[in-house]
Amino acid sequence: MIIKLKQIFILAAIIFNYTVTWSQTPNNLIIISIDGFRSNFYMEEQWPTPHIKDLASNGVYSKGVNGIFPTVTYPSHTTLITGVGPDKHGIYYNTEIAENGESGKWIYDFSQIKSQTLWQVAKEKGLKTASVSWPISVNAPYIDYNIPEIWSFTNPMDRRGATDKYATPSGLFQEVVENATGKMNVNDYNLSSLSMDQNLARIAAYILRKYKPNVLTIHLPNTDGAQHKNGRLGIEVQKAIAGADQAVGTIIDALKKADLFKKTNIIITGDHGFMTVHTSIAPNLWLKEMNVHNKAFFFSTGGSAFLHLKDANDKKTLNKILNKLHSLPYGLQKMFKIINREQMTLRGADPRAVLALSATNGYCFTNEKTGELLNKKIGGKHGQYPDNELIQTGFVAFGPNFQKGLLFNQLQLEDIAPLAAHLLGTLLNDSKGIIYNSMLVK
Ligand SMILES: [Zn+2]
Repeated sequence: MIIKLKQIFILAAIIFNYTVTWSQTPNNLIIISIDGFRSNFYMEEQWPTPHIKDLASNGVYSKGVNGIFPTVTYPSHTTLITGVGPDKHGIYYNTEIAENGESGKWIYDFSQIKSQTLWQVAKEKGLKTASVSWPISVNAPYIDYNIPEIWSFTNPMDRRGATDKYATPSGLFQEVVENATGKMNVNDYNLSSLSMDQNLARIAAYILRKYKPNVLTIHLPNTDGAQHKNGRLGIEVQKAIAGADQAVGTIIDALKKADLFKKTNIIITGDHGFMTVHTSIAPNLWLKEMNVHNKAFFFSTGGSAFLHLKDANDKKTLNKILNKLHSLPYGLQKMFKIINREQMTLRGADPRAVLALSATNGYCFTNEKTGELLNKKIGGKHGQYPDNELIQTGFVAFGPNFQKGLLFNQLQLEDIAPLAAHLLGTLLNDSKGIIYNSMLVK
């Protein structure tokens, strides 16, 4: 009798355990961030993106995702992984602001992120995490297999040594070079050519097949560079997005070969759109003209310029600057919009800035304090206030948990991290992002 009871107990334990394990193991998740990803790339015939279009037509896709402010890479990627704005996660710009108001050091260390990340909640749930080239992931303790985005400070073109130094576990970069990319020269692993996206995709593919992480995040930078040089359109942008699409194809291929494709959700998104520009504006020249350049400065992100006061309570200087902006000739006023503090707060902007300028289509800002107010500037910029569809990024989601063939009108950038956490069976407590159950299968 005792033996029988024991057998029943063991049997019950096995069934119970099995049920618990099954119900608690979520499908795998891959988040692919294509830098400068726009919905045009999958909604218009002209763009060569067969892999992404295939996922969109068999999954959920959005007309556009509204970003945070400023719509630049590092604050936006940190929102993608936390579900909160810069005012909460603490990454206000790509770089620090140097004493003189110029761009300072690039932010790269994970310890500067002040809010909970997707990697953390996934890890705390006991899931295996991986990341390739994600901004501000250096020294992230919650990523089991991490090839962070980092470069040499003395020779920024060379990313290999620094990546090797900060890759975790130690030796992982050498392992992926041996097994995935082959020995790389300096320009095989930087932003100078489209080989970067291909090599990053091969690294991700190797990690997926070898270590089978539950969640992997990857950042593909090349589509950003092409649009900075050329604006939104042109053959070079076609080549770059075709390369990013092939990188998506490489990842899908790896999932299929590892027999993981059917149990993996894939989210393809980005950080911002782009505006084509022809003219730059140097707003610090107005401050000099007014003789308040020792009391205030504009910090440019390209598409926007944030006004900082040396003394945050210096209302007199602020009013003087506002009067100046409002009294500019119409020809200058139409080059930008003034974004007030309330609008800034709504999209999570740097709480230290008192107002911002957002460039209208065709214009951008510089930090210049001398020279001409207006200069010729050819190419593309981002950073503008996220109230314009040109600056929106895209969203495509495919996999066992997503509806098929559903066009979703608009999302906010803060919605993506909580959705990702939900798919992994966990949640990001700080995020106010909305999870739309309508895009998920019951
Ligand atoms: Zn970017």
